[in-house]
Amino acid sequence: MYRVAKYLAGRKLRGDKRYPLVLMLEPLFQCNLACAGCGKIDYPKEILQKRVSVEDALKAVDECGAPIVSIPGGEPLIHKEMPQIVEGIVARKKFVYLCTNAILLSKHIDEYKPSPYLTFSIHLDGNRERHDESVCQEGVYDKAVAAIKLARGKGFRVTINCTLFNGENPDHVADFFDTAMGLGIEGITVSPGYSYHHAPRQDVFLGRHASKQLFREIFKRGRGPSRKAWSFNHSGLFLDFLAGNQSYQCTPWSNPTYNIFGWQRPCYLLTDEGYAPTYRSLIEDTDWSRYGVGRNPRCDNCMAHCGFEGTAVNDAFSHPLKALKAALQGPKVKGQMAPELPFQYVEGTGHATVASVPVSAVTHRTRDASESAGVAATR
Ligand code: SF4
Ligand code: SF4
Repeated sequence: MYRVAKYLAGRKLRGDKRYPLVLMLEPLFQCNLACAGCGKIDYPKEILQKRVSVEDALKAVDECGAPIVSIPGGEPLIHKEMPQIVEGIVARKKFVYLCTNAILLSKHIDEYKPSPYLTFSIHLDGNRERHDESVCQEGVYDKAVAAIKLARGKGFRVTINCTLFNGENPDHVADFFDTAMGLGIEGITVSPGYSYHHAPRQDVFLGRHASKQLFREIFKRGRGPSRKAWSFNHSGLFLDFLAGNQSYQCTPWSNPTYNIFGWQRPCYLLTDEGYAPTYRSLIEDTDWSRYGVGRNPRCDNCMAHCGFEGTAVNDAFSHPLKALKAALQGPKVKGQMAPELPFQYVEGTGHATVASVPVSAVTHRTRDASESAGVAATR
């Protein structure tokens, strides 16, 4: 927290308007699961087989300069060069969150060294029944729990990343958070599922009001004297936003995304807006005013941390007393919610994309580059 706060203070002092907090480094889209709410695996086979090379991954880390690197996917442990990528990022003293569904963790864990800079972020959406339903495969919850225990036993830092979908029962989520904390994890990353247009099922996603109501109900249950304290990997103000108490606009540049196509505009979640060839181009040439709640129909139900945690952190810098209150008291779970941001678009008019490099062109460029570099095939 100290290192990240120091970095943020430095960027603020320099007067930077848009700066990165977390680099979302997607080294591949291939996965060994096919979850109902996943928007990342709907690519043809030749795309799924592509990998970001070690060289390109570390170049992206250096180009962007974010103090935290999250490695989602696909399933990163499928990537043969993942240990080298992680080692290179740790050597730069950046904090790595290696996100995994944990199926392959026992096989690969000895390729990694415990470090204060490395955290395994295990995908776990709920208790056994809920998680296995969410990932559309029985037995995955048990593997994930076994992997958490293994990683903790070997001295690794471990968190879980939990996505909440339609039909969640707040009592069950609260019980699950208790169970997860009991496994010795450091914290929980939680987000309402973003309604990916490319996800196999659309009925699983929560609307904005339903998300806020659900989080209020969950947070209420975290306050009983019998509960073990839950530790979240989020700022107090982001949790307050999830509970409907902050009218935040998204700051997608705070979590820039790099993958096999280049720098994805505008964020980790929207996949049809094209790519920038460099980080500088992403920041300078993207028309950010086209994205965010009330500005773009695809943003309207989004409350994901990759869009709003950066906003909450900015707010904390501008209003430290408010941030302290949210951190000490937890999110407000009663009373009127903060107003929604006004809608600035007309339904059905559509939005022109802001891509200066069309997806087809970048796909072609990446394929050529990765083939000539001899990028590893699927394990
Ligand atoms: S584990 Fe993650 S990347 Fe794999 S299918 Fe599920 S949500 Fe998608
Ligand atoms: S609100 Fe922000 S993070 Fe969410 S989809 Fe839109 S641009 Fe991306």
